[in-house]
Amino acid sequence: MSAKYLFVTGGVVSSLGKGLAAATLGCLFESRGLKVNLMKFDPYLNVDPGTMSPFQHGEVFVTDDGAETDLDLGHYERFTHARLSRDNNWTTGRLYEQIITKERRGDYLGKTVQVIPHVTNEIKAAMKKVALDVDVAIVEIGGTVGDIESLPFMEAIRQMRQELGRDNTLFVHVTLVPFIAAAQELKTKPTQHSVKELLSIGIQPDILLCRTDRFLSKEIKGKIALFCNVEEEAVITAKDVASIYEVPLVFAHEEVDTLALRYLKIEARDRDLSKWEDIVHRAYNPKDTVTIGIVGKYVEYEDSYKSLKEALVHGALAHNLKLQINWIEAEGLESAEQSCESQLEGYDGILVPGGFGKRGIEGMLKAIQYAREKKVPYFGICLGMQSACIEFARNVCGLRDANSSEFDQSTPHRVIYKLRELRGVEELGGTMRLGAWACKIEPGTLAYKVYGAAEISERHRHRYEFNREYEETLVAGGLRISGATPDGTYVEIVEIPDHPYFIGCQFHPEFKSKPLEPHPLFKAFVGASYEHGQRRKLERQSAEAEMFLRPENVGRR
Ligand code: GLN
Repeated sequence: MSAKYLFVTGGVVSSLGKGLAAATLGCLFESRGLKVNLMKFDPYLNVDPGTMSPFQHGEVFVTDDGAETDLDLGHYERFTHARLSRDNNWTTGRLYEQIITKERRGDYLGKTVQVIPHVTNEIKAAMKKVALDVDVAIVEIGGTVGDIESLPFMEAIRQMRQELGRDNTLFVHVTLVPFIAAAQELKTKPTQHSVKELLSIGIQPDILLCRTDRFLSKEIKGKIALFCNVEEEAVITAKDVASIYEVPLVFAHEEVDTLALRYLKIEARDRDLSKWEDIVHRAYNPKDTVTIGIVGKYVEYEDSYKSLKEALVHGALAHNLKLQINWIEAEGLESAEQSCESQLEGYDGILVPGGFGKRGIEGMLKAIQYAREKKVPYFGICLGMQSACIEFARNVCGLRDANSSEFDQSTPHRVIYKLRELRGVEELGGTMRLGAWACKIEPGTLAYKVYGAAEISERHRHRYEFNREYEETLVAGGLRISGATPDGTYVEIVEIPDHPYFIGCQFHPEFKSKPLEPHPLFKAFVGASYEHGQRRKLERQSAEAEMFLRPENVGRR
């Protein structure tokens, strides 16, 4: 059977959760036993988001094959079993790069190379590639209808309908139905305009996913259906929810998958969402709260750590806990000793995530020193692992000016230095150590206990590495190297044994965590943090009780 295509476009405004909607549709199809794949086209000119600022673009999600992709691919992997690669995310820049290479090679045999058909053909070929061996390929078009730069993609999906017909293609349009407080009314006009815009480029949407903060009444649905030329049951309430993991349940309640399958003429079994129901039940009925302090450079914009945040949520859900994250601006910790302590006190666990550049590093080192000395659970990811090694070198091993050559070229102790394989490579795009690499874990270590495995595979995105010339000194000081590449070249995991939980890893485990399969490192870190918090609470209580019982306080009771 050849695959059917479901195209997701967006209207009115950006940030309506198109990616989440696409991921959720994938999840619902999988829950009916279908096989799906998902892809996203990003209309901007960057070849990939790898060189874009996380402030602008949000997190760069890394796939196993080392592609630096849009963060929506993270949603796709968290909600489905699709294994994504560079084939699943295309930008205009990458398409043009490919087309221009072909043109220079003479592949077009003297023809004039044009947006239609050459660019649209490349777009269609990319869609068809991900649709091999699946029942439904879900294709998300980035941007908002009406954008000039998304036109070739819109044209390509219009052609797909022409080529494959009504039964094999489906247009799902995500739109906004705002509630206007002054009028106490939901407004349908933006949706009408957005659909009109789509119609002007030859696309009649089949299903409208209406983002709204309340359920749409039958009357409103009828009105939208009439003006937008869709069936009433194809007007779907995509209501705001507190946990993104409730979206599959909300969509299922609206029977959007049933309708999509009817339109696409696909027979499938009933859906089974019991595991998602369990997750949502946990999310809304936590037994307690765990508070994690994240010390990073990009605290102002949460999307820059999307997967990290989700992975922590997964870890918390696994323990039936509500996650409270506080983002701590690393630079703010750099001043007086006192203020560092007062800012970090009260967290059950401390995490330093990945990052680039010098800003905030000294603050991160202070946070790590605090976590190490006060025995607060610590989890260092990539930069957080490198900083943990620098902190240890400086404050435990006495290598006063230890640093990473990323931050100080002239340091006498380059505990972290540029990857040996990257010496002499100055270009920024796609030149890091990227994607999945195997790691061997030492038996008897915390990492071994956490993973319950001797060999693992995790995804990377870094340019610097641990300098093994310092291994002897740091190990003598008490640091344990618990994971390395099987050939021993790269250090991948470090830990401190004499500590309740102190782990740093060179890779990014957050990219592989899913709500239904929480990553062991996040699960263990959140668990250890909660235990630490409970222990601290008990200590505080017993200290108070002791005060209370002191003879000099008797009269004051
Ligand atoms: N800046 C560091 C490096 O390039 C860490 C990268 C990261 O945290 N992703 O190695």
